[in-house]
Amino acid sequence: MTRKEALAEYRRRRDFAKTTEPKGAGAADVPKEGGRPSFVVQIHDATALHFDFRLEADGVLKSWAVPKGPSTDPHDKRLAMPTEDHPLEYREFEGAIAEGEYGAGTVIVWDEGTYSNLSARHGTEIPFAKALADGHASFWLDGRKLVGGWSLTRFRGGEGGEREAWLLVKHADEHASTRGTPDPRRARSARTGRTLRQIAAGRMS
Ligand code: MN
Repeated sequence: MTRKEALAEYRRRRDFAKTTEPKGAGAADVPKEGGRPSFVVQIHDATALHFDFRLEADGVLKSWAVPKGPSTDPHDKRLAMPTEDHPLEYREFEGAIAEGEYGAGTVIVWDEGTYSNLSARHGTEIPFAKALADGHASFWLDGRKLVGGWSLTRFRGGEGGEREAWLLVKHADEHASTRGTPDPRRARSARTGRTLRQIAAGRMS
């Protein structure tokens, strides 16, 4: 699938005359050669407050809505529901999505950084996009807040049109802790230090 095809669903759902979200056609949407792939975790105060977890793969951001957010505690298995692929530019998006538009509400970039692929079988690395397609991917996050090993595992769907459901789980490594997940209403943007409330009120800093 080409990047354009992968983003068709993203574009179909949005009216770019009405939302300030990126269309995904600008210079910032071109994957950089050689560099490590990126990830972003956004907090989205929509109909239901949730976290959006996105990993760069195949030139797009593979995306999951995580209602309770990522937890640093390996005992917490966090439901992660796949959403449509997003353009790479989306990793920079924070702001308000207008009332009446798809995903209406406020978005902050809670965490951002790069990741490396830990997916392997019998000691042989599995390419990340293949690991995702197979329903089990492991990766090391180097974010400003999230650091360490994590896995995403599909436990339902993937065949016969049933909606997929995945689990996002922290590995038991030196970066695991019992802190769990931050309060999303108090959490601050990794880019601008703003809270959801400050962004909703239109404050720039
Ligand atoms: Mn969302």
